[in-house]
Amino acid sequence: MIENNYFDDNQDLMDFFQYAVDWPEIVAAYELGFKDNKKYQETSDENLMYAPSTVDEAVEMYKMTLTSVGDIAGNFLAPRASKMDDTGLKFANGQVTFPAEMIEVYEKLKEAGVFAYGMNRKYGGLGQGSTVTSILNELLARGDGAFAIAIGCLNLAETVERFGDAEMIKEWVPKMAAGDVFGAMALTEPNYGSDLPNVQTKAFQDENGHWRLTGTKRFITHGCGFADYPAVILTLARTGSTTSGAKGLSFFLVESKDVEIAGIEKKLGLHCSPTCEVVYDNAPAQIIGKEGFGLVRYAMGMMNTARLSIASQSMGIAAAAYGEAHKYAGEREQFGKLIKTIPAVDKMLSRMDREMYAMRCLLYEAARSVDLYYWKTTDMEHQGMDAREIRKDEQIKVWDKLATFFTPLAKYYNSELCNSIAYDTIQIHGGSGFTEEYDAARIYRDARITNIYEGTTQMQVHAIIGGVAAGMSDNGYVRDYIEGELKRFTPSKELLAVRELFEKAAALYKTIDGSDNKEYRAFEAVESAARFVNGMLMERNAERMPADKQERYKAMAQAYHLDSKAQIQANLIKLEAAQAA
Ligand SMILES: Cc1cc2nc3c(=O)[nH]c(=O)nc-3n(C[C@H](O)[C@H](O)[C@H](O)COP(=O)(O)OP(=O)(O)OC[C@H]3O[C@@H](n4cnc5c(N)ncnc54)[C@H](O)[C@@H]3O)c2cc1C
Repeated sequence: MIENNYFDDNQDLMDFFQYAVDWPEIVAAYELGFKDNKKYQETSDENLMYAPSTVDEAVEMYKMTLTSVGDIAGNFLAPRASKMDDTGLKFANGQVTFPAEMIEVYEKLKEAGVFAYGMNRKYGGLGQGSTVTSILNELLARGDGAFAIAIGCLNLAETVERFGDAEMIKEWVPKMAAGDVFGAMALTEPNYGSDLPNVQTKAFQDENGHWRLTGTKRFITHGCGFADYPAVILTLARTGSTTSGAKGLSFFLVESKDVEIAGIEKKLGLHCSPTCEVVYDNAPAQIIGKEGFGLVRYAMGMMNTARLSIASQSMGIAAAAYGEAHKYAGEREQFGKLIKTIPAVDKMLSRMDREMYAMRCLLYEAARSVDLYYWKTTDMEHQGMDAREIRKDEQIKVWDKLATFFTPLAKYYNSELCNSIAYDTIQIHGGSGFTEEYDAARIYRDARITNIYEGTTQMQVHAIIGGVAAGMSDNGYVRDYIEGELKRFTPSKELLAVRELFEKAAALYKTIDGSDNKEYRAFEAVESAARFVNGMLMERNAERMPADKQERYKAMAQAYHLDSKAQIQANLIKLEAAQAA
């Protein structure tokens, strides 16, 4: 693996950080009038000591954190990734043993105090919004995808903080922010994966009025905790009848000491990430929030954060793959020349490069959409305002909707492209890529899960299609957003041509008859949307770069539009056929 500081060795990422992200907008959305700094002035609460008081201070603090994580990810984690994968996990007597190197990296991050990225400062967290945490997660995932997931689980504390009551927050969030208690999310069951509204783990109140759970959850990452650290398992369970669907589901916090880990999966990739079967046998539980809102509000809220984190994990794994491919192509000679100079190899490398630019644009726009509604919403919730009052805020109303479009879009696109970039990395390595001697094979294996967990690509398409259909109607929220963004830069005629094709695809999709027929072709409409939106963001962000950098980004956008035209034309042929059927 390339060893370096993964933040400042990545010029594209640095350019984004410096020029493309609108920091005044993001900082205002997260810092909410620099309230933590003001509170510090009043209370001298040590947890708030480093809360920024200006945009510049905030950006400087983010940069320091990312530089520190980039160093650990590239110079400490990456060199251990292959050994960790090779050693894997051991399971005996209900206990999981982790590779020593993984514990070493974790303790290093703990010491540096840089992993509690999703948690509020007042509980000891880093206090950084979705844009910054997406970068941070990318850095860790570039070092090792399995390790990044472990840190993502720890940051499930954010869900406890958002939906738990005061006592639960006080009990658990500071321990999670200190890295002494892990998090796990338990939704999937052996018979219900995508079909979450029908999960059957039973929740009931005992004679003392205490909640207890009985059932089995499958594929639960870090259900066992990590090393000697226990976990709180955020569990979806049924308080209603067996046929009560989503309305009969509630959300619970269960301690890992109160469940049995019946086994861990032997997997294609993510070898040092424990995927546990968790058995609840009258396990004591505390309810989170209100009964009946388990899936629709709490688990969905948690999953949206988790989907964004898989989009950034995909970005990181793709960056690792591209780095290895680029390095190998610059060293390997065939026919008396470096293979990177051979047009067919150059073509693969440049597609990977521009797709990574597209993925980065989409990821940070998704993170932006979350930042622009989420923190203000949680602040209002903590002030005791109800959902209806909160939705009267115009900014929250608009960006909440856009986040429900962008989050699954980024999850679908980035995870699919992460897979195809890892695939080409193997291809560029030739036969060596198929061996375990190079990192390409491990990266390829780890990439494969990204478009499956946190909802498969097919389930993301279900979540996005409303944005393409209703969202693109006259005055639809996606259309309004597109019109607004197109005014922020000068679109090229190629981008406008892609827009025309996308408009045709969206309109055609709406005219298809029959729900099965519509579902069959939803992917074509969603892919066309992704191609146009990404192209638009690529041009918008290119224009934000200094003059000497614009040429490279604009050229990538133009090459991307060419691919998009071909792709959407092909989709139009299929959509037209579906309409005629
Ligand atoms: C390594 C790993 C870690 C995981 N971590 C966790 C975790 O921490 N917590 C947790 O709760 N779960 C976790 N999961 C479970 C994961 O989220 C599920 O595997 C995933 O959601 C798919 O569910 P399934 O495996 O039951 O597949 P199924 O739901 O059986 O799907 C099989 C196929 O059918 C398709 N399909 C099913 N229904 C539809 C539909 N309505 N429309 C279109 N296509 C459909 C799917 O896209 C897929 O291609 C993990 C899984 C793995 C492998």
